[in-house]
Amino acid sequence: MTTQTKSLYERANAVMPPVASRATTLGVVKGQGAYLWSEDGKKYLDFASGVAVTNVGHNHPLVVERAKAQIDELIHGGHNVVYYPVYVELAEKLNELNGGNCKVYFSNSGAEVNEGAIKLAKKVTKRPGIISFKRSFHGRTIATTTLTASNSGYRMDYEGLLPSVYYAEYPYALRSGLSEEAEVARCLAQLDEIFRFLIAPDQVAAIILEPVQGEGGYIVPPKGFLQELRSICDKHGILLVFDEIQTGFGRTGKMFAWQHFGVQPDVLTLAKGIANGFPLSALVAKAELMDQWTAGTHGGTYGGNPVACAASLAVIELLEGGALDNCNKMGAYFVEELHKLKADYPQIAEIRGLGLMIGMECLDQDGKPDAKTVSGLKDKAMEKGLILLTCGTDKNVIRFIPPTTVTKEEIDEALRIIRESLSELR
Ligand code: PLP
Repeated sequence: MTTQTKSLYERANAVMPPVASRATTLGVVKGQGAYLWSEDGKKYLDFASGVAVTNVGHNHPLVVERAKAQIDELIHGGHNVVYYPVYVELAEKLNELNGGNCKVYFSNSGAEVNEGAIKLAKKVTKRPGIISFKRSFHGRTIATTTLTASNSGYRMDYEGLLPSVYYAEYPYALRSGLSEEAEVARCLAQLDEIFRFLIAPDQVAAIILEPVQGEGGYIVPPKGFLQELRSICDKHGILLVFDEIQTGFGRTGKMFAWQHFGVQPDVLTLAKGIANGFPLSALVAKAELMDQWTAGTHGGTYGGNPVACAASLAVIELLEGGALDNCNKMGAYFVEELHKLKADYPQIAEIRGLGLMIGMECLDQDGKPDAKTVSGLKDKAMEKGLILLTCGTDKNVIRFIPPTTVTKEEIDEALRIIRESLSELR
């Protein structure tokens, strides 16, 4: 057999390690809007968006146009060497979107920018400790693997990670069975125990969390929880870091999820949807903190690549020009329709989320995580041309992450496939 007759999956398996696990075995050759086309010419409705990356749809014409124009001007200048217009323009825009008293540092990936956040927090506070949250996901480098607490498999054989990291409880009322208020109180009491038994608050540089947990299960915390964390950080001089790598850039119906909660972090980390697929990430932090990050104490070759910055400016223009509104409208419609589905399928325990970051959690008759229904639904949907992803520490949550530009017809098509798949699983 020649290589041409083999699928991309087969060819990849021969030359790539299994370490990068994939949700599907699909080989694709083209993307447009909410659709991907496979190597054998089949069209797929993509409600995974490359894991919340192509937030304005695959190959949005404006993103393509701006990226192409930038390629003609300058592909790489090197932000350690020179300044170039789109780099400064994007920093100015991100500062403006975050209240106007911030400075911005660009990197390439989510993990890299979270590393930067930890370094900044340590640099500014001169403290060793970091508090992260159970069920969190922050990346795959050694430091961000340490921060991550959603799956022991991610740490397996890598132990001896970053020291002085402690894990707090993230509110998850569906699982604890407590009321929202009691769940928040339980989590705050556990944080207080960390301070009393393990590390004093004046030794803590940063508290880092996702304002809506992604990988952990699309869990939306009560507003009061984030507000309380803000005041604890203020009281003890701890930096509050929001990892908005998945929640940012319109995913939740606002540019950033912190805007839903009225709680602004000291440090905000952004990646994924920032440039609709071009590798780019940004650390946005209060200017008074950034001014203490002395020259040469952090860096990188590719951060703030001109083509990625040009794409990001197009993404922001599209979100502000209507995609955010569409995200809110379509998110509300999708959730309403999913609630109708829930009424027919008792294994659907909860529909939750913000904007188009929607989780559907399944539990069995005994109230235990129902990963079987979720993986069955994901596989059946795939056969029928709908790409879905799962999440949750028990793999019992379907995450719906269509582009913010998705249409009602596309949501209806997805709902039809989901309903059909669930009925076949009965
Ligand atoms: N933080 C969150 C919340 C994420 O969802 C991810 C990726 O899934 C990361 C960090 C890591 O980003 P990257 O894969 O770009 O390093």
